[in-house]
Amino acid sequence: TKAAVPIETLDSLSSKSFPLCMRQLHEHLRTAHHLKHGGRLQYGLFLKGIGVTLEDSLRFWREEFTKIMDLDKFEKQYAYNVRYNYGKEGSKKNYSPFNCLKIISNTVGPGDCHGCPFKHSDANVLKNKMKGYGFELQAINDVVDLAKRGHYQIACSKYFDVVHNSSMGLGINHPNQYFEESQKLKG
Ligand code: SF4
Repeated sequence: TKAAVPIETLDSLSSKSFPLCMRQLHEHLRTAHHLKHGGRLQYGLFLKGIGVTLEDSLRFWREEFTKIMDLDKFEKQYAYNVRYNYGKEGSKKNYSPFNCLKIISNTVGPGDCHGCPFKHSDANVLKNKMKGYGFELQAINDVVDLAKRGHYQIACSKYFDVVHNSSMGLGINHPNQYFEESQKLKG
């Protein structure tokens, strides 16, 4: 069995080992202390998939959400969803983290930050985000160009290589696969 991933490591993991779809959800949660339903679902299931325990997940979401709401509201409106993702509520299904195809084909509305940034983000937003991460201009242009031409998963693969200073050219089909591949390189 996989070792549990402590939530104290998520800030560092999000920049080093998360695909951009999950990194942006993590960063939004940290700054806005909230994610809309689609984001909670996409990110919550990903976290379960990388090995964050239910107890740690509850603590993670609680710590952020209670910066903007009282504990009672969190427990009543949001804790259920966290347990639900782990199959502890409702139909008690063991929900799988979403793959790229599902995330890419999702509908994303205003104020949402789930989905795949290579598909759903405006090219300038994408550019500025990667500038903020300190990427070189050529690498940024390569990624954005691939995204513009509709090669979302290849753009993601290029993003992986920029972050890891590698030239793996991986075929990416799942955010959790991206994470595992990254961890293998660090191991
Ligand atoms: Fe996430 Fe897949 Fe898009 Fe990469 S290609 S950002 S892993 S949805």
